Amino acid sequence: MKTIGLIGGMSWESTSLYYSAINQGVRESLGGLHSAKICLYSVDFHEIEQLQHQGKWQQTADILAKAAEAVEAGGADLFLICTNTMHKVAPEVQAAVNIPLLHIADATAKKLLADGITKVGLLGTGFTMQQDFYQGRLTQGFGIRVITPNAEQQQKVHEVIYQELCLGKINKQSKRYYLEVIQDLHNQGAQAVILGCTEITLLVKQAETSVPLYDTTAIHAQSAVAAALDDT
Ligand code: GLU
Repeated sequence: MKTIGLIGGMSWESTSLYYSAINQGVRESLGGLHSAKICLYSVDFHEIEQLQHQGKWQQTADILAKAAEAVEAGGADLFLICTNTMHKVAPEVQAAVNIPLLHIADATAKKLLADGITKVGLLGTGFTMQQDFYQGRLTQGFGIRVITPNAEQQQKVHEVIYQELCLGKINKQSKRYYLEVIQDLHNQGAQAVILGCTEITLLVKQAETSVPLYDTTAIHAQSAVAAALDDT
């Protein structure tokens, strides 16, 4: 079994989901007392969030590159950045190490295409919904068309992530709001909606909507398990 490097803490609310899901996946595959080999580097999200909102992305890249070097030195054979947003600096982080990064958008796109979905709604932080590093990867890399919420909805979705979900707060009104936005995206032709922020799965559940949801946290964690157990 390979060792999985995790760059987490963005926020730790979702990193704990990764930790559980990866260990559960290994137990399901190997049985008994098997658990995942994980090397976790967890950052202080306050620092990252400040730099994000000041547009100081190079500094965030430097922090995550150091974290990647640390998990590589700790024995990781591959690594994950446990957030969608911070894949904005994925190229810089990958360049700092010799182990492969499993990109969250690639894992999600492969699952969408396997399910025959080529037009999808995207929820996430404003950075993820508005900038090309994520949508562009889905569209240019995989031919998936992406629909995003309108500007007002994007702002509210973004605020709920930073002011509630990353603090572990689950609010019923926010849940209702997200479910409305998901339905809107579906009404505009999205066959499914990507939960493109690793905390959204804490707020909305598949059982609460008939629109198929793609939980990037679970998908990314599953892709790590598959890669770690692949002997080739
Ligand atoms: N975890 C979130 C994401 O998947 C947001 C936190 C962050 O800005 O990294 O995008």
